[in-house]
Amino acid sequence: MSDETPGTVYLVGSGPGDPGLLTVRARDLLSEADVVLHDKLPGPEILDLVPEDRREDVGKRAGGERTPQAETNSRLVDHARAGRDVVRLKGGDPFVFGRGGEEMEHLAREGVPFEVVPGVTSAVGAPGVAGVPVTHRDHASAVTVVTGHEDPEKDDSALDWTALAALVDAGGTLVVLMGVGHLPDYAAALRDAGLPADLPLAVVERGTWPDHRTVVGTLETAVETRDEADVEPPAVVVIGEVAATRERVVEQLGGRGGDGGADGG
Ligand code: SAH
Repeated sequence: MSDETPGTVYLVGSGPGDPGLLTVRARDLLSEADVVLHDKLPGPEILDLVPEDRREDVGKRAGGERTPQAETNSRLVDHARAGRDVVRLKGGDPFVFGRGGEEMEHLAREGVPFEVVPGVTSAVGAPGVAGVPVTHRDHASAVTVVTGHEDPEKDDSALDWTALAALVDAGGTLVVLMGVGHLPDYAAALRDAGLPADLPLAVVERGTWPDHRTVVGTLETAVETRDEADVEPPAVVVIGEVAATRERVVEQLGGRGGDGGADGG
């Protein structure tokens, strides 16, 4: 270790993408930090707040593969040991599927001072702005947030989709992150587990970004809905009765949730 006083690493959530949804703390840190390590998820408007010479992209590299987590971890430590204050900027909340937990543990092991700055998670905020409340007194008394990144057919899948279907059946909402690619697989798994064909489903693409879109369908039409709208990541999939709420409110819905998006449906 050098004699230099180490900098601090701030594990900061950016919220879903609208700069207006940054916390005050996040905005202050973005303007003060010596360097900001990020991927693409915070979205263009938030990244544009940081001058290019203070940004380091640790997301996808040319060729499509990601910067290995070990490299991100060591860059954080190296910057701090060189005396720099670092913002590690993550989409949504840093501890909701953002590998923030791993980074925090690494910093602790290395003796680097850090602070956690929560953000509005897309799991709740993206549907919310689009008029889909993840809980509702009349329709949902629980909400479960899962990753759709795993193939439900795989034996080593960490998720039990039959158990998740039971949660929805008991009056819960299922929110799937990273769930665009495997939508056909888990929609089928949930149907096989007995959930009804007409169960409402909403997909919020690039929620709160200027070009956000929301499409609503059912568990049965989910794949068609995704393909017709050509939905791409990042998108949140909401499964449960609450997904039908949007249609009852969309005409009055303002901000970045209404029909203002490219194809808001
Ligand atoms: N930490 C993030 C989630 C990281 S995992 C959070 O709390 O929001 C990445 C997934 O987040 C994406 O695949 C997508 O499912 C979701 N996501 C992030 N930003 C989004 C946005 N603006 N609109 C829709 N989905 C978003």
